[in-house]
Amino acid sequence: MTGTSGEAAFLVPGTVEAAVEALGAAGAVALAGGTSIGLMVGQGLLAPSALVWLGRIPELSVLEEADGGMSIGATTTLAALAAHPRVRTTVPALADAAASVGNTRVRAVATIGGALGHADPRQDLPPALLALDARVEVAGRRGRRHLAIDELIDGFMSTDLGPDEVITAVRVPLVDGRRSCYLRFTPGSADDYPTVAAAATADVADGVPTAVRLAIGGAGPAAYLVPEAEELGGVPEGRWAAASAEVAEAAARRADPVDDRLGSAAYKRRMVAVWARRVLERCLGTEGAD
Ligand SMILES: Cc1cc2nc3c(=O)[nH]c(=O)nc-3n(C[C@H](O)[C@H](O)[C@H](O)COP(=O)(O)OP(=O)(O)OC[C@H]3O[C@@H](n4cnc5c(N)ncnc54)[C@H](O)[C@@H]3O)c2cc1C
Repeated sequence: MTGTSGEAAFLVPGTVEAAVEALGAAGAVALAGGTSIGLMVGQGLLAPSALVWLGRIPELSVLEEADGGMSIGATTTLAALAAHPRVRTTVPALADAAASVGNTRVRAVATIGGALGHADPRQDLPPALLALDARVEVAGRRGRRHLAIDELIDGFMSTDLGPDEVITAVRVPLVDGRRSCYLRFTPGSADDYPTVAAAATADVADGVPTAVRLAIGGAGPAAYLVPEAEELGGVPEGRWAAASAEVAEAAARRADPVDDRLGSAAYKRRMVAVWARRVLERCLGTEGAD
């Protein structure tokens, strides 16, 4: 199906293969909920030759539990993600991140594929998905491939996607005993972008964390993992609070923030330490212990 949107052609493919074919044309861009693209086109930052709307491709709207994970189609809206009972109970960090984005109107149409494709470092979903060790399936003319979140988003508003490639799904592993938590801090209104965001997962067996992951958003060109969090695995309960504080300081040292309306770089770096410690304490169950 074809129509026109201003000077850009408006294409409505019915399959992933047709979308990939359409995106192969020079200047064509994928369109999902349109919440970011609409602004960019409106401000003259983007002048696509064609908008390839993904909203009529059945494969992209599937959200199901399969093969030990949640498989989330790229056009799943953030509202649907936030409200999904299994997402809320198995991977609450993702449900909470989705529920934090913008406002009701944005979440009603913005999609998980668009949230990754936009690649703004202030966004809520990338740190949550990074902590959850999610992988992204991408389809292009050369077939399908799978990427970690920090392989897909490779810099400030930059992705590894080729011009003909489309995100088809995000796969989040489900692990018995895994806790996940997401916290964001904004000094402005609740629907503003976070100044910093922190997400953590903790695999807990017999009351002891065996594996911990921590990811930070808003404090660098892209969300980043904090490898020092792995050192929390096996730490005895009496040391959790002190060890979490050390990891939080490591997270702040790894930050590479910039001054902007959400705060100065120095302020953001301190906020990383504060919110990293809080999210670790929440995930490990030591919140309020000190
Ligand atoms: C008022 C407002 C407030 C906001 N506040 C927040 C906030 O607090 N936190 C936050 O995280 N974000 C916020 N956002 C940004 C929001 O997260 C993004 O606009 C949204 O997630 C983009 O999703 P979309 O489906 O609308 O994508 P679109 O706007 O359709 O596309 C965005 C980008 O992704 C690409 N794309 C879309 N789908 C795919 C796909 N399947 N494969 C490959 N590329 C694709 C497009 O080509 C485009 O480059 C806000 C946006 C607005 C307008």
